[in-house]
Amino acid sequence: LPNQAQEAATTLRVATEPTFPPFEMKAESGEGLTGFDVDLMRAIGKEAGLNIQFISLPFDGIIPALQSQTVDAAISGMTITAERAQTVDFSRPYFKAGLAIAVRENEEEIQSFEDLANQKIAVQIGTTGARETAKIPGVEISTFDSASLALQELVNGKVNAVVNDAPVTLYAIKQANLRGIKIVGELVTEEYYGIAFPKNSPNVAKINTALATLLENGTYDSIYQTWFAG
Ligand code: GLN
Repeated sequence: LPNQAQEAATTLRVATEPTFPPFEMKAESGEGLTGFDVDLMRAIGKEAGLNIQFISLPFDGIIPALQSQTVDAAISGMTITAERAQTVDFSRPYFKAGLAIAVRENEEEIQSFEDLANQKIAVQIGTTGARETAKIPGVEISTFDSASLALQELVNGKVNAVVNDAPVTLYAIKQANLRGIKIVGELVTEEYYGIAFPKNSPNVAKINTALATLLENGTYDSIYQTWFAG
């Protein structure tokens, strides 16, 4: 029988903030998680011979959990940034994203990032959307624990815009049928998601190798099709 240390070595505790569809969300049936990141991480685990155990955390708790090594990795639509790379290590990029501006359908004044000056804007706490919004002159920022709560605030007329990851806002409009909002202007940023690890984690190389295999053998494509086709 394997001893405890060996057993622990085969399980990867992976943090995620599970209200970010289609990347991570609670499955409709049961207690489990589903989404693009969830499927990708499970496929990586299979490829690398690691047992994946998801741990749900608030988004702004993920980096502290990596730093204290209460988790071994995180997959959470997390953008690779220079600032974060000072405290955690990242895998190779696995998804290209960027920030989009969402407004109500009848909005005419706000058509670009420049037009956001002096506006009321909702963002998700600890995100690149929150970081970029803080740079806008005269803004009044409302901060929420999830992107969907920020978008709901916009629908409810309490703010005039949301700055959030484009694929997530698009999915909310198209797939989750969030009514009355639209995306305007160009993407505010170009961003790449990475899997995050504690600094100097031995798992980075292992997971990069598995990710490369999945990109080559069609597994990544089929997961992509599942969540982003059409
Ligand atoms: N990609 C954004 C970031 O890294 C948002 C991530 C998220 O809300 N899960 O800040």
